[in-house]
Amino acid sequence: MSENAIIGVDIGTTSTKTTAFDLSGNILAETSREYPLYSEPAGRAEQDPDEILEAMIDTLSQIVKTVTDMGNEVSGVSFSAAMHSLIAIDKSGNPLTRSITWADQRSTEETTQLKSDERGLSIYRRTGTPIHPMSPLTKLIWFQKHDPEVFKATHKWISIKEYIFYKLFHEFIVDYSIASATGLFHLEKLDWDDEALQVAGISREQLSSPVSTTQTIKGMNSDYAREIGLSEEIPFIVGASDGVLANLGVGAIETGSVACSVGTSGAVRTVLPKPVTDSQGRTFCYALTEDHWVVGGPINNGGIAFRWLRDNVFDDMKLKDSEDPYDLLTERARNVVPGAQGLLFLPYLTGERAPYWNADTKAVFFGLTLNHNRNEMIRSVLEGVMYQMDSVVEALKETGVEPLEFRATGGFTKSRLWRQIMADIFEREILVPEGSSSACFGAALLGMNALGILSDFSSVKDMVQISSRHEPNEENMRVYREFKPIFNRLAKSLQSEFKTLSDVNKKLNNTKAAL
Ligand code: ADP
Repeated sequence: MSENAIIGVDIGTTSTKTTAFDLSGNILAETSREYPLYSEPAGRAEQDPDEILEAMIDTLSQIVKTVTDMGNEVSGVSFSAAMHSLIAIDKSGNPLTRSITWADQRSTEETTQLKSDERGLSIYRRTGTPIHPMSPLTKLIWFQKHDPEVFKATHKWISIKEYIFYKLFHEFIVDYSIASATGLFHLEKLDWDDEALQVAGISREQLSSPVSTTQTIKGMNSDYAREIGLSEEIPFIVGASDGVLANLGVGAIETGSVACSVGTSGAVRTVLPKPVTDSQGRTFCYALTEDHWVVGGPINNGGIAFRWLRDNVFDDMKLKDSEDPYDLLTERARNVVPGAQGLLFLPYLTGERAPYWNADTKAVFFGLTLNHNRNEMIRSVLEGVMYQMDSVVEALKETGVEPLEFRATGGFTKSRLWRQIMADIFEREILVPEGSSSACFGAALLGMNALGILSDFSSVKDMVQISSRHEPNEENMRVYREFKPIFNRLAKSLQSEFKTLSDVNKKLNNTKAAL
């Protein structure tokens, strides 16, 4: 007897991952394909939309073939995509730009200006997207000023997922979730925000029609249908963004359940029934469905800080073939007492987003003495990343969230010590879900909901397997409670000094360039 399968496609910044699940959430087949990120000139981070389309078609056709060969029938295909991408499209539907990703820094100056304008905070409060170079809103202001030719010739401004749906179905539609991360979308009205459009200098006709994340669409272009190996009548679910789907995919969907990931960067996210923004502009709010809103904050300096330590401080480390340098470093940190003998690390190696949203921040070791050596530095780096994550949790609490449990994902979960540090600093139990691609699983779950297979998300928690749990240790908690306020005060009080340092660096670089 043939079983039904649902496919989740996650269009990420480095690759597209495509996974088929059975209707109980078990993985049937998975694959992925990478594509390049173009980063010239400095500060740019773009991708070729057609390379991404090709990766999507390629991975999807592979998975369709595998599951149908296994005797399964595909019930639907549901989509996740990275937030904040922006592509200019001309009247004939051709791209005038590459896909400009969240990581692209071109609109730094426009961001500073909009933040100092009172409209900045009021737009954020209605649209839920922090005013930042990642946001399409600030990129549109950049195009107005710096590329008027493209700006004038653009018929539609869309994201990478809209591009793919346009190619497959010849319609410009955008789900509420991707729309809610543009900085242009009024969360309460579920429609484009007039003032944001005015600031961006575009009309609503230049944007796609917003639709629910559970919207299904049929009637795929027959050439693509043939290439993928699916009937044109198979429902495609428009889906949502990767961040909010990751919450669903790890089962952090009920009140009080918080998803926290630390990969290269990091994020803390929880689900609320209504959109909520922060009076100080610290947190984001993005749609999962009309009744599920994901509130949280991203940090730039997650695992990247540990990677910096491995590559720049322990670059002399001698390794045997089978050894993982991270494991060797965490082993050394395990022998250092919690609190690293008073050594604190502010991990701002690459500027910081939540909670201060300051691109000028720099990293700091604070409290060094003659007694400290590299082992204390390792421990303080691991702890510093978690203090920073905790400061985002604190900002979330101020918007009315009361965290009861944390579900942790990302590369840091490979380290038992780092997971325990998280539990001790957060003072809550940490659960680590199994599985690698929570966004794909989230997309599949949303797809099941759209197709009526899952009537709501109440059973999702039970579909997610937990691989390990960590209770906070009372003694360690007491130690971290002493250091946390010092970390937070330091971070706050240094914000203006970071700016001064940046200005000095810029001045010196300009002088050097002029010589
Ligand atoms: P990405 O977000 O780029 O997908 P990952 O989720 O793979 O990244 O996380 C990568 C980070 O995970 C590394 O930078 C490192 O800080 C951390 N990491 C990887 N392996 C280990 C390990 N064995 N122990 C501790 N941390 C690790």
